[in-house]
Amino acid sequence: MPNKTIEKVTTGTSAEAIEHESHFVAKNYKPLPVLLTRANGVYAWDLEGKKYLDMMSAYSAVSAGHSHPRIIKVLTEQAATLAMTSRAYHSNTLGPFMEKLIQVTGLDLALPMNTGAEAVETAIKAARQWGYVVKKIPENKAEIIVADGNFHGRTTTIIGFSSEAEYKKNFGPFTPGFVSVPFDDLKAIEAAITPNTCAVMMEPIQGEAGVKVPKAGFLSGLRKLCTEKNVLMIMDEVQSGLGRTGKMFAFQHENAVPDGLILGKALGGGVLPVSALVGTKEVMELFKPGSHGSTFGGNPLACAVGLEALNILTEEGLVENSAVLGEYMLTQLRGINSPIIREVRGRGLWIGVDFDPKHISARKVCEMMMAKGILSKETHETIVRLAPPLVINKEQVDWAIGVMREVIRDAEAQTGAGA
Ligand code: PLP
Repeated sequence: MPNKTIEKVTTGTSAEAIEHESHFVAKNYKPLPVLLTRANGVYAWDLEGKKYLDMMSAYSAVSAGHSHPRIIKVLTEQAATLAMTSRAYHSNTLGPFMEKLIQVTGLDLALPMNTGAEAVETAIKAARQWGYVVKKIPENKAEIIVADGNFHGRTTTIIGFSSEAEYKKNFGPFTPGFVSVPFDDLKAIEAAITPNTCAVMMEPIQGEAGVKVPKAGFLSGLRKLCTEKNVLMIMDEVQSGLGRTGKMFAFQHENAVPDGLILGKALGGGVLPVSALVGTKEVMELFKPGSHGSTFGGNPLACAVGLEALNILTEEGLVENSAVLGEYMLTQLRGINSPIIREVRGRGLWIGVDFDPKHISARKVCEMMMAKGILSKETHETIVRLAPPLVINKEQVDWAIGVMREVIRDAEAQTGAGA
């Protein structure tokens, strides 16, 4: 191929750019047919200049809103000062970021990584290590209990305990040592615990499964069970954490403090991959030099941005906004009586609308919403996920609900369901 200078797309149509992209990109995603070129706060614009309200926030990574000015200031200043050291050296940003993580979680020690899946892998290692060193499980026998319908990322170990066939097909063999039980079922968890169980690892609310909220008492019951059985409770709050559910962490709804807490997505302020495992001393002190690592994990740029993301969350009332507007949005959406909707569920600004596949697919609803200026994304065949940036205001929520009402009426008319 001749060596020509290639630049980002700024002209032509979105359709042309999407077609062009398809020649060079592996098709491991099926994005909505929109090509974004810029975003600010809760809004994004496509190549033609059409404006959209972002009701997805990059799966919660953009909780602080697109290009939050405080994040951009820290990002650019830190990038120009000291961006990358590796952990071969200390930096003046790692300590403060970890201190803030400890302050907001109430746990003891933190280990920085980059993506959510890496932090989950870190938690698996932490749990097994604790199992062998502290609980004295025989070598290579440690088991971790997970939930059916889980989503913890895409590494080969993690997909090995997924219950989704399409995540696993042609990727085996898989890592042993995981036992999957129904979500929100304390009896099933108790029955699955053996002397070799080192941890129960779950999402406190299952996101990719369709914003599945467990019954009241599940998290506190799980905490009690894990303590009684000498098993670690590990919460994957990569998506539910950092204000998404109307509390800083979803475990706080039931004061069910875990032994290990996995964070990611919004920790990167919407600009970088930043994740961490935060845990108790008993679990985290077992990591020794050489036992785990990552070239980019805890780099100065990520730490400066992560610290600012946490500062913004705690100083700008985003968690409270998520609680108040989330409750309001849930009530409004539940008030839309439609035969094409099976259920509306959620917590904070994190809502799943489950459509009846007899009438319409969630993908089709997302496309109809997109045409009217709202970006969302289906999860599985039937659920439309709504997770706007936590900086959204009531006027914007009202506008979105108005558009959703229109889309639902149009869908009813098209499918004959409203007749
Ligand atoms: N854990 C949960 C609960 C998630 O929702 C996700 C991503 O959606 C992950 C882990 C994986 O995060 P990443 O895509 O950053 O690896």
